[in-house]
Amino acid sequence: MAIERTLSIIKPDAVAKNVIGQIYARFENAGLKIVAARMVQLSRQEAEQFYGVHKDRPFFKDLVDFMISGPVMVQVLEGEGAIAKNRELMGATDPKKADAGTIRADFADSIDANAVHGSDAPETAQVEIAFFFPALNIYSR
Ligand code: UDP
Repeated sequence: MAIERTLSIIKPDAVAKNVIGQIYARFENAGLKIVAARMVQLSRQEAEQFYGVHKDRPFFKDLVDFMISGPVMVQVLEGEGAIAKNRELMGATDPKKADAGTIRADFADSIDANAVHGSDAPETAQVEIAFFFPALNIYSR
């Protein structure tokens, strides 16, 4: 399987719970490398742009309000099949449906406050990584 990069966001609920390190350990234990990272307080405009694909969905305003409710931790994960591997580690969007042992099962409270974001395909990974990280700030090794 190819080496990929994917964008991960630890959302405001998980940052507030002080579990950034526990989530990073899951990435590392699964063989994913953190090759870029920054903590960001998103503006409303940035959150609306990032989640633009959902702008006509009923949950859009609540999602944006939630994503700007506090700082988020944003990272690029690199490794074999990183996109699918990260989605597996995250678990289902609704934590009640997430498999035991996934990040969302263990750290998320609801479908809105669901702890993490992860790119869902190579095309979205490319766009989402570029949104947060100019190429020069990625440290592949
Ligand atoms: N979301 C929500 N209510 C819903 C569906 C989604 O609040 O009914 C939020 C949730 O935070 C989710 C994000 O919108 O993580 C993006 O939805 P998507 O279907 O892309 O889920 P994901 O890829 O994050 O699992």
